Amino acid sequence: MEKIKVGIIICDRYHTCAGGKCLKSLKNREGAFEMYKDRDAELVGFTTCGGCPGGNIEYAPGEMKKNGATHIHFATGFLVGYPPCPYMEHFAKFIPEKYGLQVVFGTHPIPQKYYLTHKNLDSWNTPFLQQAIQPTLSNEKTRLSYD
Ligand code: SF4
Repeated sequence: MEKIKVGIIICDRYHTCAGGKCLKSLKNREGAFEMYKDRDAELVGFTTCGGCPGGNIEYAPGEMKKNGATHIHFATGFLVGYPPCPYMEHFAKFIPEKYGLQVVFGTHPIPQKYYLTHKNLDSWNTPFLQQAIQPTLSNEKTRLSYD
């Protein structure tokens, strides 16, 4: 079976992030990476969107593709930032069209503290966001382990 090669793009609001939660969840196959639980998967790229409105997304997937990327993951920060990234739908159409790569929403499980605040704010109340958070919702115990 073809090896999964993951490129991660993070929201620039968290540009100093060292990727700890993303790498942990890739190793443990948690959150969005649970979809690879029976697959060999490796990280081949990690960068930020470049800051609003995400100019680096025009180019970064191409560089990741040259390094073998098969899947581009938008880090969970896209979903849990205040507000969630308003450009996700556009990026998710652009990347497959331009580079032929599959886009996945999220990386590590949503941390419980973000989950609770967004639930109280009702900030995931669109059909798009309801769908987009599914891979990283996990369960409460797992979310707490990412707080
Ligand atoms: S909100 Fe979206 S475009 Fe803005 S910095 Fe975050 S990921 Fe990039």
